[in-house]
Amino acid sequence: MRIKDQVITIIGAGATGLSLAWYLQNSGYSVRLIDPQLKNLAKAESASFAATGILMGSIYKNTRGRSWQLRQRSVALWPQWRALIQSCTKDLIYRPGILFLASNISEQNWQSQILLKSRKADIIKWNRKKLDALDPEISSSILSGLFSLEDGQIDPKRILDSFYEDSLRKGIDIISRRLKRLIYVKDTWQLELECGESLNSRWIVLCTGSDISVLPSKGYHPILTQRIAGQSLQLMLPHPRENPWKCWPGSINWKSNNLVPISNNEYWIGSTIEKDNFIKSDTLNTLINRHGIAPEWLKKSKIIKHWQGLRSRPIYRPSPILQLVAPGLIVATGFYRNGILLAPATAEWVMKCITITDHSY
Ligand SMILES: Cc1cc2nc3c(=O)[nH]c(=O)nc-3n(C[C@H](O)[C@H](O)[C@H](O)COP(=O)(O)OP(=O)(O)OC[C@H]3O[C@@H](n4cnc5c(N)ncnc54)[C@H](O)[C@@H]3O)c2cc1C
Repeated sequence: MRIKDQVITIIGAGATGLSLAWYLQNSGYSVRLIDPQLKNLAKAESASFAATGILMGSIYKNTRGRSWQLRQRSVALWPQWRALIQSCTKDLIYRPGILFLASNISEQNWQSQILLKSRKADIIKWNRKKLDALDPEISSSILSGLFSLEDGQIDPKRILDSFYEDSLRKGIDIISRRLKRLIYVKDTWQLELECGESLNSRWIVLCTGSDISVLPSKGYHPILTQRIAGQSLQLMLPHPRENPWKCWPGSINWKSNNLVPISNNEYWIGSTIEKDNFIKSDTLNTLINRHGIAPEWLKKSKIIKHWQGLRSRPIYRPSPILQLVAPGLIVATGFYRNGILLAPATAEWVMKCITITDHSY
């Protein structure tokens, strides 16, 4: 049977699963997507719907290794993906530009290395004088910035909804159930769903984020992950005014926190600073105060919404985990950061893996 005549089953409809489903369908594959959250995606509580959508691929301290390659590939693919998805949805929001801030010497050295190694014309150093022109102002303890126009921010909910809606239009098979068990029988995977129903599929891609309990326990090197929390805030400036962000160059990143101006007087702060699977009471305070160094407007902003998500972090290996663990079974997880950024390169990797492996059987 030709590979494109078979159904590829994706488990998990977070950023990884939804984008992969969309990509495979657009490449001519038949796709089945399984996730209980598909009953009501608007209320999904996965990490993907807690993300701030920062796509920071060019500003990265390494210039080799798999993570760097995935970033580079995603930076190249995102404009094509945006153009494709924009042609079938009117609601996509992309905000170009990221300013990465340094508040100590080691972060400044890091900026210099990125600048030296990247050799990209659209990564520019911002000195303190240039930062002083920002209004609303940034903390006086920030030493310098690195601005990249190639990086940016995409509204995560809108892009994920767009992947889903376009996949539905193109006939994706949706099953709003939890997968309970996977069993390999005669070259095929048998999927047992929570409702008692069972299905078969030659190809399974597990995109279940922090829950990989359905993986069969034998036959491959065990995959270990831990769950860690992340939190986001929607805030409103204390003194509303017309077009307050007009001299900001885009979103801001500092010490694993993102600040995204989203509308006239509102902004998001997203943070991946947690180390445990719960939000510590002091980290919310840290987010707003930054150890007391935050500017007054940030400290006095009103919190409109506060939400969180559980991320999956690989243990004893680098993030992410992209692995063919058994015949016809691919795991794409461990995106404790950057799952949205890396979605295009991940989808491309999975499709190549399926195509190459299937021909070699
Ligand atoms: C606060 C915060 C801010 C972030 N900011 C950014 C950012 O700016 N940019 C960026 O790129 N990344 C960001 N991230 C990281 C990003 O959210 C993750 O990398 C990404 O969401 C991982 O997506 P995923 O699809 O792999 O996992 P998830 O989003 O966890 O999705 C997994 C899905 O699998 C389903 N599932 C689990 N088990 C089963 C089962 N047995 N059967 C069926 N379905 C199952 C779940 O219901 C869920 O829908 C942020 C994360 C957080 C928490």
